Amino acid sequence: MIPITKVVIPEAAHELVGEVLRSGSLAQGAMVERFEAACAAMAGTDHAIAVGNGTVAIVAMLHAAGIGPGDEVITTPATFAATLNAILEVGATAVFGDIDDHFNLDPQSLPELLTERTAAVLPVHLYGQCADIEGIAAAVADHTNSIFEDAAQAHGATRNGKEAGGLGTAGTFSFYATKNLFCGEGGCITTNDDTLAARLRVLRNQGMRNRYEYLEPGYNWRLTDLAAAVAVPQFETLPALLASRQANADFYATHLSEFSQLRLPFAAAGNVHAWHQYTIELREQEGTISRDSLVAALNDAGVGAAVYYPRPVYAYDCYFDHPRVRVSNAPRAEQATASVFSIPIHQHLQKEELQRVVDVIGELM
Ligand SMILES: *Cc1c(COP(=O)(O)O)cnc(C)c1O
Repeated sequence: MIPITKVVIPEAAHELVGEVLRSGSLAQGAMVERFEAACAAMAGTDHAIAVGNGTVAIVAMLHAAGIGPGDEVITTPATFAATLNAILEVGATAVFGDIDDHFNLDPQSLPELLTERTAAVLPVHLYGQCADIEGIAAAVADHTNSIFEDAAQAHGATRNGKEAGGLGTAGTFSFYATKNLFCGEGGCITTNDDTLAARLRVLRNQGMRNRYEYLEPGYNWRLTDLAAAVAVPQFETLPALLASRQANADFYATHLSEFSQLRLPFAAAGNVHAWHQYTIELREQEGTISRDSLVAALNDAGVGAAVYYPRPVYAYDCYFDHPRVRVSNAPRAEQATASVFSIPIHQHLQKEELQRVVDVIGELM
């Protein structure tokens, strides 16, 4: 089997975890500080605040920015439930736009969604490619300047030379076990806003500025030094990871372009793609294989293909019927979620494996 994700823990992480274990200080401490410095460098921001996971990072970011009940947050239907769950968790209303040809929030879908309650936009850099942030900002400028990035899949991606996580008001990353950088469970918020960063540090730690100096009711959103130690060594090799995933994407672009049923992904002008996923849109035609049959056949042939995501996130009863979910027309998201599939792109693939993926797809076309 050629797996769609492969978790390889670098030797340096074993050593750093050992260091933390021997220190006896397992909770948030010096290793989390190193993790935060690396996150800020990755996003090109003044601040990074580590938290327990990528979902809580979005909750914390919205909460610290004062987003709550009565506020509307516009987001994309082509995302993982975490994005929507975080909006609902802070008590805000989720409003859905449609997506563009890169599967990201389409600025053109935004004007009709704006109301006097529009408080923020939360685009997702899906599959590792930055959304059209300037287009989004321009489309909503009369209503809000708050643009929050869900960069959970986009470590090291850039747009017009600026890093994901540093493109808007604030951004969030996930370090879940299968993300490009990982530590099992982990997350961070990146921002240049000093006030927002200071409030996040307080909220994360029970609302305390110093020990027992409570500024407001808070939470325990902390990351552990133990988890941070797994992630810290990976930032150094991020450029190599990105280069290797780009080379794999280039290989697919060269060898799959002959199949007219496949619409291959590419980086939009000005974007460096992090290639968290290599996601193809199947143009179903009369007499050709369906998306679901293709994914099943690929897996039968030993190619770990998967669907991210099978439906727009609002299209489940628990969200569709939710009083704080506002669904409008998103034909492009409906169509894309019915026709996309992802194939292995990770940096541990061997040339023969890439060739095998191409050959198996060719046999099924
Ligand atoms: C993984 C992911 C999250 C959530 O991150 P966790 O660390 O799993 O909580 C949020 N948004 C997107 C787009 C993701 O892919």
